[in-house]
Amino acid sequence: MNEQQMLAIYEDAGALLTGHFILSSGRHSSRYLQSAKVLMHPAHAEALGRALAAGVSADDIDVVVAPALGGLIIGHEVARALNKPLVFTERKDGEMSLRRGFSFEKGARVLVVEDVITTGGSVCECMAVVREHGGVPLEVLAVVDRSPAAEGRFDVPHRTLLQLEVESFEASDCPLCREGLIPAVKPGSRHPA
Ligand SMILES: [Zn+2]
Repeated sequence: MNEQQMLAIYEDAGALLTGHFILSSGRHSSRYLQSAKVLMHPAHAEALGRALAAGVSADDIDVVVAPALGGLIIGHEVARALNKPLVFTERKDGEMSLRRGFSFEKGARVLVVEDVITTGGSVCECMAVVREHGGVPLEVLAVVDRSPAAEGRFDVPHRTLLQLEVESFEASDCPLCREGLIPAVKPGSRHPA
């Protein structure tokens, strides 16, 4: 799957939104990528999972790990393509943690999968949890990377299917806030205009 085909899927699914958005990082942006609207379609999710997994040898990893919620669906599809188990980390009182009886064999080779990387914060927290529990993150895979500054952000190699640079601003320095025409919304909290 090339970038053109991926963008077409996102546009067809109505997953590329325009407006005034508060990203999970707290930054503001005029574009938002609602990956859930693509991944809600099993055929798309499966195709994207296969495309991500295509660059991985199943013999090289033991388990796929995804940070919830964003990474769950695509993580599951990558795990399915590699026929490996999926476990996920999740926030409890704001702290990323491993729950539900999940654990790692000591030295387990871990593939970390996320849907959209913006700041990379969730992925870093997810990898820290994996290491705390004895796992060894080997690579990070994501469907979309929204930031050009991602290179070198993680201490393991990472790969994305689509590099989609979307400009974002500190809330205190947001031109859309200054214009004051559209209130900033958290994506998903209401229908975009
Ligand atoms: Zn703003």
